[in-house]
This record gives sequence, C-alpha cells and structure tokens, in this order.
Amino acid sequence: MFAKDIGIDLGTANSLVYVKGKGIVVNEPSVVAVNMITNEVMAVGNEAKDMLGRTPDSIAAVRPMQDGVIANFEVTQAMIKKLITKAAGQGQFFKPNVIVCIPYGVTEVEKRAVEEVGIQAGAKEVFMVYEPMAAAIGAGLPVAEPVGSMIVDIGGGTTEIAVISLNGIVMCNSIRVAGDAFDIAIINFIKREHSVQIGERTAEDIKIKIGSAFPYEDEGYMEVKGRDLISGLPKVARVRSEDVRNALYEQIGMIIEGIKNTLENTPPELSADVMDRGIVLAGGGAMLRGLDRIIEMETKIKVHIADEPLNGVIKGIGKIIEGFEKSGYKRVLEQSKRSK
Ligand code: ADP
Ligand code: MG
Repeated sequence: MFAKDIGIDLGTANSLVYVKGKGIVVNEPSVVAVNMITNEVMAVGNEAKDMLGRTPDSIAAVRPMQDGVIANFEVTQAMIKKLITKAAGQGQFFKPNVIVCIPYGVTEVEKRAVEEVGIQAGAKEVFMVYEPMAAAIGAGLPVAEPVGSMIVDIGGGTTEIAVISLNGIVMCNSIRVAGDAFDIAIINFIKREHSVQIGERTAEDIKIKIGSAFPYEDEGYMEVKGRDLISGLPKVARVRSEDVRNALYEQIGMIIEGIKNTLENTPPELSADVMDRGIVLAGGGAMLRGLDRIIEMETKIKVHIADEPLNGVIKGIGKIIEGFEKSGYKRVLEQSKRSK
C-alpha cells in the first residue's frame, strides 16, 4: 500500500486537489476561518466561505493566498493540511509526494516556505511547478516543442501572462488585476452610480450573471440588494450589462496592456509563433463574456479559451503526476526547483 501522489492548485480563489489515478477529488474556495482570540482554525474551504462577511468580530475569514503569494504561513499550512487529509484520508501510513504549483514570481524564501508548509502538512517530498506552466500543460499546449505558446491565466488575485517554449518559461508577467479586481470595480461603480453598498459575493454574482467585456446579444439587467449609503437602509439597485461593462473597462484595459507588454518583450521568433498560433486564456476570469473578443481586437491575435478554464492548472498538474517517472515533465519540475 503506497501513498498516492497528490497535486495541489492553491489558488487565490479556489483550491483543487488531484490524486494520482483518481483525478480531481477536492475543489473548494481558498478560505480559512480563524478565531482571532485563540488563533484556532475554525473551518476551511466551503464551510469557511459561508462565513465570509458574516463572522462575529472574533472570527476572521482569511484567504491564504492573497495576491498570489502566501499571506499567512499558519493559515496556508492549515489549508494545505486540510486538502491533503481530504484527498488522502486521515491516518494514512505512508506520506504522499506532493506537487504544488507556485506563481512564477515567487522568491527563494517563498519557495522554501511552500516546501516547509507541505512537509509540515504531511508530504514526503514537495515538488513545485510554475502555475503558468501547469496551466499551459492543462490547456494542451505543446510546451515541450521549440515553438512559442502564450497562456494567460486570469484567476482571482492575479493574472499571469507567460510565453513558453522547450519546457521553459521564456517570459512571464504577473499583474494584480483579475477576478477580485473586477468584483471591486463593480462594488465601486454601484456605490458611485446608485449610492448603494453591496458585498463581494453579490458583486461576483453580478459579474458572472450579466458581466461582459464586449457587447453581447440578449444583454440583461439585475436587481441587486445592498445598503443605501445615505439612509443606511436596505435598497434595491437595477444594474444593466452595459453598466457592468463600463465598470470593468479599466481593469480589462490593464490585462490587455499586460499582454501587449509581454509580447513586446518576447524574442521575435517566439512572438511570431504566438501571432500564428494564438493566445490561450485560462482561469475563472477567462469565462467573462467577450473577454476573448476584446483581447483579439486589441492585439490582432486569435484568442482561444481553454476547456474548463477553472480546472486548467490542476489538469496540468494531473498530467504531470500521471506521467511522472517517464516523461519530460520531470524537466518542467526541475526548472521550478528551489536552489539549495
Ligand atoms: P485562482 O486560480 O486565483 O484561485 P480561479 O482560476 O479559480 O482563480 O478563478 C476564480 C475567479 O474566476 C473568481 O474571481 C471568479 O469570480 C471568476 N469566475 C468564475 N466563473 C466566472 C464566470 N463565469 N465569469 C467571470 N468570472 C468568473
Ligand atoms: Mg489559478
């Protein structure tokens, strides 16, 4: 009875776990509820997310991966521990190997922290893979070939834009504008235009239901409940698709700017490949209506959306795990290894 290798995508918004031979076994929001007085972890994942915005002062709902980096060591450890136990079952005798993805920009210190957290949480050995690499593998891009592939992973906290060739990341930009920033822009817009304060979950709901980056057919509206900033009483605001698009305009512009910058700094042979082969979008943010269209128009490059954008990174990690011994994926992992 050997422990099964486990892969973890610890995202800023969602955490997923892949078990070798089984597939994706855990998919929960990256939220940990902490008792501020005792420092005790009260709940993790779905259970903790339900507490968001509804906690008494003594309990804080913390996101361990704020802006793509470990915001709080203990909380991250609790999250990873919970994910490993959920996936592997409690009281397992053998410790599993764990592959965990990390943002491209992490420092050696942060890599060491991730490794330590994994070991503390019960891993035998911790392997690391850069997130954009995992997302590209997950999207089925030919990462091992001598051609340039561009992947744009729009998550909760960050958008990672990378060009990959020959199993390596040639160019990568990480910008702190992604799904969460969209939500905040919607909150601010409704505050400004309607004098109504809404919560983050309502804002995300609006984004998913009627949000867009480009006009679409059958645009609608939503009636949302919030608090009137003047009277302090509950109030309903009517929000149209077009309003949401205006609210997101600036943030979307920053993502497009990031893509253009990355292309400008990519060696010409590889950027020519990207022009020929197109750009692939992954991450939950890729599902914003019309985002592919607007990027296409602004860059004049064909844009494809990965299948199941929310599962892109974990699918890539899964492919690495399944082909661990034999394949060239070993080199993918080597590249992300911390220097000892
Ligand atoms: P991370 O890897 O940082 O955890 P994810 O790839 O899981 O992030 O994406 C989460 C983000 O995707 C959230 O901001 C969420 O609101 C957004 N999202 C999910 N579904 C949609 C959708 N249909 N349209 C727009 N955004 C979406
Ligand atoms: Mg992600």
